[in-house]
Amino acid sequence: MIAVTGAASGIGAAVASALRTAGHRVIGVDLRDAEVCADLSTSDGRRAAIGGVLDRAPELDGLVLCAGVGPHVPDPMQIIEVNYRGAVEVLDGLFPALRGAAVAVSSSASTMVRWADNPISRGTEAAALADAGEFAGHLAYSWSKNAVTVAVRQRVAEWGAAGVRLNTVAPGAVDTPLLQAGLASRYGDAIRSYQPPIARHGTPEEVAALIVYLLGPHAGYIHGAQFAIDGGSDALMRPTEF
Ligand code: NAD
Repeated sequence: MIAVTGAASGIGAAVASALRTAGHRVIGVDLRDAEVCADLSTSDGRRAAIGGVLDRAPELDGLVLCAGVGPHVPDPMQIIEVNYRGAVEVLDGLFPALRGAAVAVSSSASTMVRWADNPISRGTEAAALADAGEFAGHLAYSWSKNAVTVAVRQRVAEWGAAGVRLNTVAPGAVDTPLLQAGLASRYGDAIRSYQPPIARHGTPEEVAALIVYLLGPHAGYIHGAQFAIDGGSDALMRPTEF
């Protein structure tokens, strides 16, 4: 049994579909159209999500954290609550039940800030966002994804000792409803003007295939890693940093 958050749309829906095609049973978690309907932007919702999954499966073969919102949503704190706390609290809440592996969907945006400069590292994100003006959504998104990647890396010893692997994937622009909403927002021109070396958007199925690989037995020695799946953007922008 594999739990997938954000299973109702985009990358999460592609992951759930690929896993079911491969013969796995999937517990989808989402706001709606899922086995467990819960709002990961609140502490109560996160507790309900964890409880709902454990009610259906006291032991899990895998966990995939896809639920997220983009930089365009009106309340930037919502971005941090869903993308960061909605990932990390579910990760920690389901860790005792996990027997296999977990993958969190971070983003290429995770590398746009250093952890030492990330207000989430000091718990000052609300104050920092109050001063951020028109870039608040963009900043909150980068901070939330940087914090998810750091949280995964910080868990590598404890999870490895328990025999549970944990990795992140960092997509660039992937053609989903989240990207379409970004294209329709004030960030649209910036998204359109950037072209990755592979000059197209990724597909949810391409990201799902990487996630399914990372969950599976052929990835048995991959732990604590972040995989860019971005058409070459990371190498283009940071050729000497890896
Ligand atoms: P999507 O909008 O298609 O899917 C996101 C899912 O998360 C939706 O089903 C939505 O209902 C769910 N969700 C949102 N808020 C929630 C909440 N409060 N509680 C429970 N579920 C909630 O978007 P997507 O592009 O498939 O995004 C999946 C993940 O990939 C996100 O974490 C996103 O940040 C990340 N990502 C996407 C892109 C991209 O270009 N599409 C790029 C990098 C990273």
